[in-house]
Amino acid sequence: MSAPWDPRSVVERKRDGGVIASDALRRFVLEFASGEIPDYLASAFLMAAFIRGLDEDETDALLDAMIDSGDRLDLGNLSRPSVDKHSTGGVADDVTLVFAPLAASLGLAVAKLSGRGLGHTGGTLDKLEAIPGFRTDLSAEAFLRQVDDIGVAIAAQGPSMVPADGALYALRDATGTVPAVPLIATSVMSKKLAVSTDLILLDVKAGSGAFMKDVDAASHLARICVGLAERRGRRVRAAVTDMSQPLGEAVGNAVAVRESIEILRGERAGRLRDLAVVFVAEALAILGGTPRERARSDALAALEDGRALEVFRRLVEAQGGDPAVADDPVGRLPAAPVRVPITAGATGWVSGIDAEEVGRAAADLGAGRHRKGEVLDPAVGLVLSVGVGDEVASGREIGVVLARSEDDAAAASARVLNAIATSATVVERPPLVHAWFGR
Ligand code: URA
Repeated sequence: MSAPWDPRSVVERKRDGGVIASDALRRFVLEFASGEIPDYLASAFLMAAFIRGLDEDETDALLDAMIDSGDRLDLGNLSRPSVDKHSTGGVADDVTLVFAPLAASLGLAVAKLSGRGLGHTGGTLDKLEAIPGFRTDLSAEAFLRQVDDIGVAIAAQGPSMVPADGALYALRDATGTVPAVPLIATSVMSKKLAVSTDLILLDVKAGSGAFMKDVDAASHLARICVGLAERRGRRVRAAVTDMSQPLGEAVGNAVAVRESIEILRGERAGRLRDLAVVFVAEALAILGGTPRERARSDALAALEDGRALEVFRRLVEAQGGDPAVADDPVGRLPAAPVRVPITAGATGWVSGIDAEEVGRAAADLGAGRHRKGEVLDPAVGLVLSVGVGDEVASGREIGVVLARSEDDAAAASARVLNAIATSATVVERPPLVHAWFGR
């Protein structure tokens, strides 16, 4: 007679460095997702997996169980080619907010399940929810209908879609178990593989603001993600991109939406815009056969002439938000009561920015979570207007802190200044994209 099922055996096996049988791991994940296994046991599993790692079979079993914890979405009947894009997490990384309406304005369907802020990184859902009224808890039917109607929907994984990731994601954030390759890869890919898009684009971040601190580690994560998708017959392209500094200027929620709207209005250039355009061009090249240079200029034209902004407006309206935010972001988004400029402490060229520290400074203002389920303050955050390679002069304004109090603002400003290194000689700007993986 076999021993009765005891979920502790899964934790104990990993704790002792063993390999967990696929059926036991699957049962553990499904019972956790349905609430039968408590958070404390799942936290112990996450820490054991974090420290011991998961091999390829375990990673596959974890991924399949996460996907099977909810419904799969079949986009088979859409009239447009469909694409999904996901970032492994960064600071001022608002590519999705620009990419999704821009790609939809150029004839693609963007069906995206997003995440919340994790650790020091921001989350697309938290940012969108800074728009008054915006809802991310769409049912599977509403999600599909919206993609069909306006070409784009951005939703949370909920009770019906990949609930295991929603639950594990929140626990990882609260238990210091985020930066492990198999946990990130299964979290990202469960959300992507549950929806049957024609193309998955992955933005695997490398650098001080990413979970993978260097290009080699990020390339390893990119290869694992690509392998998981390709073994399931899915088309995927993964770019390892620079996160050695915040990608955009705005770190926070409302402030990030504002920066994205300025890009969608054709009013703002810079690295964030350029990376969104890189991904849109890649999607148009693969799904539409458009040469990359032409796809790039098509994307820039849709930002200039208001087509991308119009899709953003429809996206906000479809998900219950105030569409006037597209025309008047400053007036419609929540604003913090205190604004304190950040002034450069040294003269020279910016040689490095500890983007994780910048992200943590914004999180501590109230823009990110410290406990599972914590409610964020959408109005607070910061803007840092210099990047690596820029010239700065001591005393010159290089950003602003948006805070609830003067004390909070002073603390954040000091942390940001500490996170910036300067050099007396010219510094080269890092590349935006380091490498591509997948076909
Ligand atoms: N994004 C996700 O969806 N999951 C992670 O674990 C990290 C980034």
